[in-house]
Amino acid sequence: MSLATAALEHLKALLRIPSVNPPGGEGPCVDYVARVLSEHGIEHTVVESHGGRPNVVGRVRGSGAKKPLLLNAHLDVVPVDRDKWTHDPFGAVEADGCIWGRGAIDMKNMAAMSLATIVSLKNQRLDRDLIFAAVADEEAGSNHGALYLVQNRPDLVSAEYVLGEGGGHTLHVGPRQICPIQVAEKGICWFELTAHGEPGHGSMPHGDNAVVTLARAIEKLGEVRLPPHVLPVVEGFLQELAGGASRAIPALLHPRLANHLLGVLERVDPARARPVSAMIRNTVSPTMLSAGSKVNVIPSSASAHVDGRVIPGQTIAQFLDEIRAVVGPDLEITVHEQHEGVVFSSDTPLYAAIAGMVARHAPEATVVPYMVPGFTDAFAYARIGATCYGFAPVRLPRELDFAKMFHGHDERIPVDGFVWGTEVLRDLVAEFCSPVR
Ligand SMILES: [Zn+2]
Repeated sequence: MSLATAALEHLKALLRIPSVNPPGGEGPCVDYVARVLSEHGIEHTVVESHGGRPNVVGRVRGSGAKKPLLLNAHLDVVPVDRDKWTHDPFGAVEADGCIWGRGAIDMKNMAAMSLATIVSLKNQRLDRDLIFAAVADEEAGSNHGALYLVQNRPDLVSAEYVLGEGGGHTLHVGPRQICPIQVAEKGICWFELTAHGEPGHGSMPHGDNAVVTLARAIEKLGEVRLPPHVLPVVEGFLQELAGGASRAIPALLHPRLANHLLGVLERVDPARARPVSAMIRNTVSPTMLSAGSKVNVIPSSASAHVDGRVIPGQTIAQFLDEIRAVVGPDLEITVHEQHEGVVFSSDTPLYAAIAGMVARHAPEATVVPYMVPGFTDAFAYARIGATCYGFAPVRLPRELDFAKMFHGHDERIPVDGFVWGTEVLRDLVAEFCSPVR
């Protein structure tokens, strides 16, 4: 079976398994991957997290002259709004040149390509081990997946380099094509904000209502633009987006001008303004509210869950100082989930190999390192010293917007762009792990 045929078969099989997180249900996906690895005699281990969520790690051994390369793909997907989909989100329907399904881009495509790649290289002479980790739970914070493996089975997943999601796609900017490589990602600080007040009877309003106090704080968080912290990689990426010629970029990096410029951009092109704003500062999105249990009782407390995202290099404490400056000292902040952001050097042999491979397969595209405002499993592997890049190659036509497809309705991947990506990934891995470089 050809590489492309195998990868397409894996993609369709995985898309037909509704591994929606929560609750996850990655089991059948892990079974599929493990079965394929078994059929090809590839060494692998299934690892269950404390919560019973399975992961599978396969390995093709090299000479050991160099440290391993690990391909990572999470097998869970985010929920779907079935009514909004043109085709069954778990049908792997092929239509209009695309394969449709939840996970087609995020990121069963990478799982399928990686599986086809490791199988195709099983008999090749390699100077480093090639590892494929198909993991659970990325969409809920990686605790049962990559983070679990890093903390409990570092023997299986220790690697010099990791390739995962977050880059390798086509970004159409005017007539130009950019191939962004993720070398950095923001951290998270998911916290609960609680206002306390005087309880009382709803028939007699008073000035210390927790619901009102919380609402005022939420409004401030909803409107604030926290101070900019611009990393060199982000500055470089914005310069590249602007074609290197825009005078707006230096202004965007200037604290006071940035707010003005972003205000203008938000009015004329909100879709562009949003990611730019998120790349240059810490952000907060209030997402869940709870207060009260009866309509005629003023509750003594009210709380909101807030999704905070933190620029790499900023500590969680620094981020919380910025939040307190906005909401004031009286509200209680309880952090539920946190990890700091990460940045990796793009001055490595693997980055150079990626750039060379893209230049060979898509000479029209400019390779640029960038930071994603979300997070991926990279933060977990960084903890055991790996250099991680987001490179899940896929060529996309202008009408398919990568960012919209992530967690959006009608997630789909063009068949030709997926086949292209599979060949790029296999060629890259074969070359990078080959002793005759
Ligand atoms: Zn993902």
